[in-house]
This record gives sequence, structure tokens and C-alpha cells, in this order.
Amino acid sequence: MSVRDTLGRPLRDLRVSVTDRCNFRCVYCMPREVFGRDYRFLERRELLSFEEIERLARAFVAHGVEKIRITGGEPLLRRDLERLIEKLAAIDDLDVTLTTNGSLLPQKAQTLRDAGLGRLTVSLDSLDDEVFTTMNDVDFPVERVLAGIDAAAAVGLPVKVNMVVKRGANEDSVLPMARLFRERGHILRFIEYMDVGHSNGWRLDDVVPAAEIVAAIDAELPLEPVAPNYPGEVARRWRYSDGGGEIGVIASVTAPFCGDCTRARLSAEGRLYTCLFGVRGHDLRALVRGDVSDGELREEIGRIWVRRTDRYSEIRSANTAELPKVEMSYIGG
Ligand code: SAM
Repeated sequence: MSVRDTLGRPLRDLRVSVTDRCNFRCVYCMPREVFGRDYRFLERRELLSFEEIERLARAFVAHGVEKIRITGGEPLLRRDLERLIEKLAAIDDLDVTLTTNGSLLPQKAQTLRDAGLGRLTVSLDSLDDEVFTTMNDVDFPVERVLAGIDAAAAVGLPVKVNMVVKRGANEDSVLPMARLFRERGHILRFIEYMDVGHSNGWRLDDVVPAAEIVAAIDAELPLEPVAPNYPGEVARRWRYSDGGGEIGVIASVTAPFCGDCTRARLSAEGRLYTCLFGVRGHDLRALVRGDVSDGELREEIGRIWVRRTDRYSEIRSANTAELPKVEMSYIGG
């Protein structure tokens, strides 16, 4: 059963945030001036339980969702996350994946794999410790993220690496990152810095356009475009002409892909957002904790999706950056 929104877009992907907490304070995502000691994070009882997430996941799958990405905050901070992975991996025809900063992977890679995780994405913004620690703002060294990537690869988990590129912060890291992950055989994806939330003080001038990133790599390591793996794939793919692997670019600012967007997002407290740049979520936790049947839950999700009109990135302008939006750490990256 496939449900379509007002623009004819099916529902295929669900991102589930399992916590709004993170052990990093990346300046472009959770700057410590905002997410400091006094910040009120969600309390445990406010978070969806694994059983509630599983029940919701099954309702989404009934509407055509084929892939669930666990995210946050830092998802590996959520205790016993493996239990959730196990529950989701048991759902037929569902691809379960995870996005992490990699810091806890050395301890967790094997149990995640054993629980049925299919693959994962690790975020890393530079190979230069000075640049990386300035960005993560908790003095976390590059070497430990690389150790996490190696730990995941060693247990047989396919790893992709995500790098957010911000003008003046880490653009010089693009080529070293491309060289290293080409050599190690991991797909590296470059993400344009986006105006999510409000706390990062985003400016259009901070965005390094994907075309500029591709041109810089192509000048040293020639690239050629590759067709998408499936309609609606977020990253545009490029392969090294000499057969040395591929990279991707996620150009949500300079080449928005709202027309193909098949993603819904569930916050850690169970609010459903149909756009990363959404303002008001729909409270699904009230439903799962209330007295509704699985059928009614499914119907409500369908009703929300068919009314969906969001296409924020296509209408983005200098003015829309000021519109109210939720933070990425809350809604899940
Ligand atoms: N903690 C996990 C991690 O580090 O991957 C998962 C959550 S994090 C919010 C998910 C991804 O969103 C990371 O790759 C992060 O770099 C990216 N991200 C956060 N803020 C962003 C922004 N303003 N623009 C583009 N990407 C952003």
C-alpha cells in the first residue's frame, strides 16, 4: 500500500530520532551557547519507548516505508539501542540503518551488527584535528572516529561517511577526505551546510556549493556522474573515472530535491514531521499512549501524509531562513 501526498510523492523513508542528546557540540548543529548546562533536554519518560517505536514503524511500513534510519542527537547514547535494532530488523522487507558520530562504535559495532543493523553512516567533517575539534567543540580527535569506522568495517558493516562542508571552517578538508576514503573504499558524501533550526546562525555565504566541491575533487581525481540507485536518492553520485570508487553530494541548498522527497521524520518524543524544515509536528505519542488501534494509528499517519505540501528547500530564500523551524538535533539528521 503506497500513500501519496498532494504533490504525488510516496512515503518510503522514515528517520527516527531516539534521543535529542549528543556528546558532541558541533558548532553548526548544537552550539554550546544554546545547548549548555541549562538546556532542557527531553526526559526519559518523554521519549518513545522501543516498543512504541516498533509499533509506529510497523504502521509506517504498512504505508510503503522501506527504509528506517535511526538518528538523533547521537543515537548510540540511547541505552540498549541494540534492542530497538533487533525489533526493527525483524520487520519484513525493511532496511535498517543508522547515522552516528562514530564515537561509541569501537564498543558497539559488533552488537549492532549482531542485532541486525544493515549498514551505517558516520559523520566526520575533517581529518585535521584542529579543524575537527573546532567543529565538534568537545576536543574529540579524528583518530577515534576513524577507529569507529574501522570497527564497523571490521565486523562487516558497510560504512558511508558524511561530511558537512562549511565555508571558512573545513573546505580545505574536502580533498584530504576524498583521498583517504577513496583509498579505504568507503563512499564519502559531502553535505551542503543547511539552514536547519535557528541556533547555528546560518548564512547563505557559509554554503560551499556542491558543484564547487565536485570541481575541486575532479581537478585532482577525475570524476564522472553516475545514475541514482533509486528515484528520490538524496545524494547525487559521482565515480572516480579510474574505477577507484565513488562519492556523493547532497546539494539541498543549491539543487533542492523536494520534488522527490519521500521522507518522514519522527522526533524522539514522537512528533511526526514531514519536512526537515518543519515547524509543527504531529503528536503520534499521544496516539500510541492513548487508546487507538493499530488500524487507527495507520489511518492517522496516512491522513497526515496525504495532506503534505512541504517543499521548503525549493522556496528557500534569504527571508525563509528566519522562519520558525525545529533544531536538527531534535528532529534527527
Ligand atoms: N549524531 C549523529 C551524527 O553525528 O551523525 C546523528 C545526528 S546528526 C544531526 C546527523 C547529520 O546531520 C550529521 O552528519 C551532521 O553533520 C548533519 N548536520 C547537522 N546540522 C547540519 C546542518 N546545519 N547542515 C547540514 N548538515 C547538518
